Amino acid sequence: MNLGIDGKIALVTAGSRGLGRATALALAGEGVRVMVSGRDADSLERTRLELVALGAEVAVCAGDVTEPDEPARLVAATVERFGSIDILVANAGGPPPGRAIDLSDDQLESAINANLLTSVRLVRESLPYMRANGWGRICCITSYTVKQAAPVLALSNTARVGLWGWMKTAAHDLASESTGITINMVCPGPHATDRMKELGGSGVMGDPAEFGAVATFLCSTQAGFINGAAIVVDGGSTLAL
Ligand code: NAD
Repeated sequence: MNLGIDGKIALVTAGSRGLGRATALALAGEGVRVMVSGRDADSLERTRLELVALGAEVAVCAGDVTEPDEPARLVAATVERFGSIDILVANAGGPPPGRAIDLSDDQLESAINANLLTSVRLVRESLPYMRANGWGRICCITSYTVKQAAPVLALSNTARVGLWGWMKTAAHDLASESTGITINMVCPGPHATDRMKELGGSGVMGDPAEFGAVATFLCSTQAGFINGAAIVVDGGSTLAL
């Protein structure tokens, strides 16, 4: 299937490794021009070279996407390099584990900043360009925890459900604008990435490349009537319909 996004311009945040990187690779495979952000300059450079090897037009921007001013800087850098933005893949690192009843205000605020407000800021900054183009695809990488709270991942369970509520409402707003923009989330279950290793995950793991392909389909022309969806990619562990 030709996804119809050859030549489109994407910003993929926290894309130097893991699920963001896999999505950047899948988009580049469809001919999308990609700006990738990441915190770590070395892994960002490795990912840039992989994308270049695919024949992609690619640029990278190092920085912490959870800093309040960073989304505006990243969108501006994308527009400066490629002229606009059509596709936003909003991603950030996951919060540390912790029991709900042990969390401090600081821990909760930090997770809400990283896993809710960062995506909201990225969407807000990208929308004017998508509206001007009369087309846009927004895909936020969240977690299966929006469907089923995971034990000891209280910060993820809390912040991401907040984002889920915001996105559902934004999907309604965008549908009523009729500007050709959709907003959806992809919700990974356990995948074989560095984060999973850090959390000590074991058992059956998803392949990040397959996850990247699902996220890329949501950014395709054919996905134009999918809006406000939370697509779970978890091998059936939540059985969420
Ligand atoms: P990862 O740690 O393997 O990779 C994350 C990438 O983002 C790294 O390159 C890292 O340098 C970069 N990054 C992290 N924080 C950043 C920041 N503040 N600014 C810029 N770049 C940053 O993580 P992953 O497994 O790919 O997970 C991606 C998202 O999906 C996370 O929010 C994670 O919690 C969520 N998730 C992952 C899994 C899984 O099994 N891998 C499951 C559920 C949810």
